[in-house]
Amino acid sequence: MPETRADTIREELQKRRRAILETTRRADAEIDALRAAERDPEFEEGAQTEHEAFTLSRLGETQRREIVQIDAALARLDAGEYGSCADCDQEIDPRRLKALPYALLCAECATRRERAPGAVVNEPPSI
Ligand SMILES: [Zn+2]
Repeated sequence: MPETRADTIREELQKRRRAILETTRRADAEIDALRAAERDPEFEEGAQTEHEAFTLSRLGETQRREIVQIDAALARLDAGEYGSCADCDQEIDPRRLKALPYALLCAECATRRERAPGAVVNEPPSI
């Protein structure tokens, strides 16, 4: 792949990474605020707060997973392996990479892993 294209992808991945970290930080701050509010004896909406904190922490987990995938994609970019499937070495469909710049697997392997129990890589299939 031409160096300029690799640079563009790297920039895009790093931009996405920063955006996720920023969102996660904000979610963490919100969870802290909710926990602080719970300790307030005047605060009586415990159940609702619990639900919101749960939603936010789930969001954090999804984003953490995305960061892991972005880091893996960046490592593959540095190794010159970006764009080929981590499982079968076939070239990943450029349309899939455009929609999912940190895709490590081709659509076929992503679908297979999604069905396999204990899948490590979770990517939306069929892109
Ligand atoms: Zn594959």
